[in-house]
Amino acid sequence: MAGNGTVTVIGAGIIGLCCASYIQRHGRQVRVVDSVPPGRGTSFGNAGGLSSGACVPIAMPGIVKQIPKWLLDPEGPLVVRPGYLLKALPWLLQFIGSAKPERVERSADAILALTRPLFENLIPLARDAGVEGLIKRVGQLHLYSTDAAFAGDARGREMRLRRGLKLDILGAEEIRQMEPDLAPIFRHAVYFPDHGHCADPLGLSEGLAAELARRGGEIVQARVNDLEVGPDGVRAIVTEAGTLPVDELVIAAGAWSHGLAARLGHKVPLESQRGYHAMLAAPNVGPRRNVQWTERKFIATPMEAGVRFAGTVEIAGLDAAPDYRRADVLLKQGMDMFPGLKGGEVSRWMGHRPCIPDSVPVIGRSPTVRNVTFAFGHGHIGLICASTTGRLVAEIVSGAKPSIDPAPYRVDRF
Ligand SMILES: Cc1cc2nc3c(=O)[nH]c(=O)nc-3n(C[C@H](O)[C@H](O)[C@H](O)COP(=O)(O)OP(=O)(O)OC[C@H]3O[C@@H](n4cnc5c(N)ncnc54)[C@H](O)[C@@H]3O)c2cc1C
Repeated sequence: MAGNGTVTVIGAGIIGLCCASYIQRHGRQVRVVDSVPPGRGTSFGNAGGLSSGACVPIAMPGIVKQIPKWLLDPEGPLVVRPGYLLKALPWLLQFIGSAKPERVERSADAILALTRPLFENLIPLARDAGVEGLIKRVGQLHLYSTDAAFAGDARGREMRLRRGLKLDILGAEEIRQMEPDLAPIFRHAVYFPDHGHCADPLGLSEGLAAELARRGGEIVQARVNDLEVGPDGVRAIVTEAGTLPVDELVIAAGAWSHGLAARLGHKVPLESQRGYHAMLAAPNVGPRRNVQWTERKFIATPMEAGVRFAGTVEIAGLDAAPDYRRADVLLKQGMDMFPGLKGGEVSRWMGHRPCIPDSVPVIGRSPTVRNVTFAFGHGHIGLICASTTGRLVAEIVSGAKPSIDPAPYRVDRF
């Protein structure tokens, strides 16, 4: 039962679960509400990348020149469904606007503050939940098959080096030694020794949820249809399972969060960048670590349940049916990456990346509604940012000194 300062979290994705786990460690009762079981939203099917040095926003200077090429290529990494273009246009214009060099530098600092302490904040939660073994700290590779693409990413490398991040530049022979099953088409790679991956993102969420319940947290499976707002803030959430009273509310509803924020008077530019994966359950060959084919913008990851190829961006909104041909393209490109790849059942999946134009999520208290804190908009890096976001949200909710400056993530910055 809520009461006595119970904190209600909407969303049992990796963000909501990390928030709830840290809030619980601050001595508060928590209740997590989601229409699906824990970890079954976007957090289910991501590429598992754990990049503690991620700081480069998606919208970088020069991206506008690349967009037409991507859109014209049927196997390219970007699709905008024609029927959705007009609706997405304001967001797309803000996305392009955020690619200015000075904005990109600001965004990079804000992103890095969340990603840098990733392992320090995630490992204790995973250890308590008995799922630490899913976190593999074996580095990460960004691969380039052309000199032009490698040269084109120079600004991103320079941004990372300037911020003191560790990376090594590899040539073809070193790539082959590290990843012997790769096709011999990769001429350059950037190796990130401090990065890693999660070999079962769903298992991580399920582990955190089980630990939350063991510690007395409540998990309610119900859709939240409305918020009851009074002069003192949100009084209750209206769910399919009835109206539940609220003392403190955290909104961590991923790509669906803007509707709830709008109900409280906050207009947030949040758009779904739909992504896909294809998995092969029993691969004969594959990657040793999380490897990204940079030109094609997809990632191959060795998961507990097989090899996963994840990527592509499809702008089509929250309601359109998945187009699993996007997942088939990923599998085909994965086979180009690992010649002779075969083995086992193929599964396909689509999920909604919750994207803010400048790649900087929304974290922090509502400036107008007393008892509401936001935690959403983590886009392509929600798994990476989840643990630091959770810690920060718990500090904000409990009035503790924040471990990182929350200012860049304000909901009223747009
Ligand atoms: C193909 C792909 C690859 C990716 N690769 C990576 C990667 O390698 N590394 C990385 O860090 N990130 C990656 N991401 C991004 C990452 O998966 C997301 O940023 C992250 O999962 C977002 O977590 P979340 O908790 O905000 O959202 P979700 O996991 O979607 O959770 C939100 C939850 O809120 C619930 N909800 C929404 N509205 C309501 C409501 N009204 N009532 C009740 N419940 C509600 C939903 O059911 C959902 O379960 C990838 C994403 C995709 C699609």
